[in-house]
Amino acid sequence: MPLLEITPHPPNGFPVPQICDPVTDSLDEMLLTAWMNKPGPKAWVRPWRAKFKHNVEATWSKIRTLIQHVVGKDTSTNLIISTPQQDNTFTTECNPPPWHFLILGLSQEATTFLVNLQVISTPEIMVFMLPFIQPTPTFLCTLENFTLPDSPESNTIVTNIVKHAIQSDDLIPDFIRGLDPNPDMLPTLINLIHITSIHIASNVTRKHTLWNVYCSYTPTFLTLEKHFLWCCLICNLHFCSKDHGMGIVHLGKKQFRCMGCKSLDHPTGLCPFPVILGWLGPKPQLVASLPAQLTSTPKPTRGCSSTRGGRGAPCGRPSRGGPCH
Ligand SMILES: [Zn+2]
Repeated sequence: MPLLEITPHPPNGFPVPQICDPVTDSLDEMLLTAWMNKPGPKAWVRPWRAKFKHNVEATWSKIRTLIQHVVGKDTSTNLIISTPQQDNTFTTECNPPPWHFLILGLSQEATTFLVNLQVISTPEIMVFMLPFIQPTPTFLCTLENFTLPDSPESNTIVTNIVKHAIQSDDLIPDFIRGLDPNPDMLPTLINLIHITSIHIASNVTRKHTLWNVYCSYTPTFLTLEKHFLWCCLICNLHFCSKDHGMGIVHLGKKQFRCMGCKSLDHPTGLCPFPVILGWLGPKPQLVASLPAQLTSTPKPTRGCSSTRGGRGAPCGRPSRGGPCH
């Protein structure tokens, strides 16, 4: 078997695309049940710029060859890459789900090995690996409208505004206490709220800053479903400040949605993956052909950790079908 060129694992790991929709979103119900009932170790694989289509034989073949290469022919004798089928929901989304293929038939060791790779980038195909139990994202929402420049100091100010908004809320303490009676849980969560900023061009002459809100701690009780409720409560807060205006949540059609990695905390033009050292997927230059709004200078240090909002997501999270940013 020829040697395979793969992007090396960055020292601090790959950015984590924050997939906020269930990975089974738009998956045919009967197929979903059948997949759930399949025995043995399972994992998900999603190609870069995933888009559901009926004719996926070429993609499927590349994924299969890739996995065989990575885990070895002998280990992958029983490998099955199950192809997703879409339910009958009408969608106008330009890159409709389901996006994830199911990996079956490998040993637990080989399955865990694949999942731990996070990302496999080769000149032929680039894929994201996910455990079968979908990880809960850390991204909560994006805020805008604060009268602040793009700076670390501003991020600290916004962090404090968000923390204060959570502390002042009536519903959130009950919500968290209902999931975990430990009185230290909410202070712990609040303490781990952090902010990253992104600076984007809203038109040719104007740029503006937005702030992504994350909570880096995901207790086990924050399943994907509970996480959506937690996000919903956060999105309904009043992000008031004495000096910097009032932040509002960047929702609906304005919600970012990266076409490449599917993360919700950045537009496609700011995707951190194409600027990774040794990246073998589509080069950043291809991004330059996108509209001006999407072509802000990529900032690889900005966190790529977010949540999608779509079907199944709460509180005015965007319905798919809007513009693909
Ligand atoms: Zn991205």
